[in-house]
Amino acid sequence: ATPMSIMTATGRGAQAGVLIKEAEALERFASVDTLIVDKTGTLTEGRPKLTDVVPAEGFDAGQLLSLAASLERGSEHPLAEAIVEGAAERGATLFAASNFEAVTGKGVSGTVEGRKVALGNAAMMAELGIGIDRLAEQVDALRAEGKTAMFVAVDGEAAGFVAVADPVKATTLEAIRALHDTGLRVIMATGDNERTARAVASKLGIDEVRADMLPDGKQQLIEELQAKGAKVAMAGDGVNDAPALAAADVGIAMGTGADVAVESAGITLVKGDLNGIVRARTLAQATIRNIR
Ligand code: ADP
Ligand code: MG
Repeated sequence: ATPMSIMTATGRGAQAGVLIKEAEALERFASVDTLIVDKTGTLTEGRPKLTDVVPAEGFDAGQLLSLAASLERGSEHPLAEAIVEGAAERGATLFAASNFEAVTGKGVSGTVEGRKVALGNAAMMAELGIGIDRLAEQVDALRAEGKTAMFVAVDGEAAGFVAVADPVKATTLEAIRALHDTGLRVIMATGDNERTARAVASKLGIDEVRADMLPDGKQQLIEELQAKGAKVAMAGDGVNDAPALAAADVGIAMGTGADVAVESAGITLVKGDLNGIVRARTLAQATIRNIR
């Protein structure tokens, strides 16, 4: 690689909102064949909205939402914000919560109005030994629409579920097509459940889906793909993503993300948009062509 062409590319990248930490990262990105992207916030807007409150028999929708939102006030997760905001819009009464506990990648629990409340995914309910079979059919129907459902348990019993929708960004479909054109296979990785993830992925032409991922799952996925000979780029935005960004052949920190993600990445996108990855890839390929 000639220093001149790399410098030119780095300068051109900066103008396009693509910050390159080391020149090698850009060169390596030209030879990457697999890109892993997050669903929430990368493919979708990342601002979910509450859409459904579905009580189980013997429970009341207003009460269900009150208990769920009271608990979620203690969480900073985007899903929690959606529930608290949705509750406010619907005029639900909120109560103080105690014994609040968050389980990363699963959900939250605590005490509200003297009742033991838990909220989260199937893994969270399994951990608490709460059966959710009677809700499965209704939950699956909403997931098939790409919504994310969270089970609510009250005093050890499945009390219903709430669902949120996180719309796909207007630019995503076109960007995925452009990434395919540059020769990349695109894998969606998400902590969300399989059915919701597949519903979103199938609309976007995503090549592969890895759902129900725990926070350290992305790093494992990267190592698994690399062991099969793949050259892997990983785009991420969160504190949880730092190990995966470091493990990837090229880590891409999506703008507005955590500083720790930026530190672990070779490429940083000023705007957290998939089109930034398209620009970086095009730039990388052009640079390699100039060098050779
Ligand atoms: P993502 O891939 O969207 O970042 P996370 O790993 O943060 O997903 O969470 C995975 C799943 O765990 C969520 O889809 C949700 O079902 C559940 N979960 C996590 N945090 C919460 C919370 N505060 N309230 C309810 N459910 C939660
Ligand atoms: Mg997350």
